[in-house]
Amino acid sequence: MTVSKLATVSKYSWQRGGNFGQIARKPINKLVLHHNAGTGSGVVPNCWVGRQASAHYQIENGTIISCLDEDITAWHCGASGVDNNSHTIGIEHQNSTGAPDWKVSAENQEKSAQLVAEICKRRGIPIDRNHIVRHREMPNCQTACSGGLDIDWIVNRAKEIAGEATASSSSKTKEINEEEIMKIIKLPNNATYYLVRSTGVTTLTAQEWIGVKRVLGFKDSDVDTVNQAEFDGIKSALGKK
Ligand SMILES: [Zn+2]
Repeated sequence: MTVSKLATVSKYSWQRGGNFGQIARKPINKLVLHHNAGTGSGVVPNCWVGRQASAHYQIENGTIISCLDEDITAWHCGASGVDNNSHTIGIEHQNSTGAPDWKVSAENQEKSAQLVAEICKRRGIPIDRNHIVRHREMPNCQTACSGGLDIDWIVNRAKEIAGEATASSSSKTKEINEEEIMKIIKLPNNATYYLVRSTGVTTLTAQEWIGVKRVLGFKDSDVDTVNQAEFDGIKSALGKK
């Protein structure tokens, strides 16, 4: 039996209902993220008792709940003509808002990243968007699932938790001398980070920022979010030097 040490065993439907298994388990190479399409507690795990569906984990109210042994095939992303379930782990997420956004709370997304990091490290699965996917990204799946779940944030955060920095963030880190950095800014709704130095501005992707942050000891709270006018002002001030 294999269950993440981060999870509590389900009070809702731990391996009951029978809507799982029957498909031989193959080596696990993907994690498939779902949303509940609902904000309630226990609704989705309970529905598996009477519905031909199941998943390995449910994340709700900041808690990771194990619903099915990872060594048993869950019925979470099946589609006609393809074998989607035998080699995947299904992770469900309670929503924090309803239609049309179907967001997932920061608390649940943080737990998701912890679970993804733990499973991937334990099983040797690369933490990237080829191996961590939305339900709708699986072959032949006609669904909007996983709604507004921020899967890119989860994958980046999981990499951070697992202690991985990308090659590009390592090389960027070498270029940057910590004492030179005057401030770190970003624009709202933009995942690019700008390290303002006396000699110019270094641009980092969100992934590179994770590595630089870790190596140089910065925190997200060190970043100032500025509007476009402030941003242009900082850049032109540097240009005049
Ligand atoms: Zn789904």
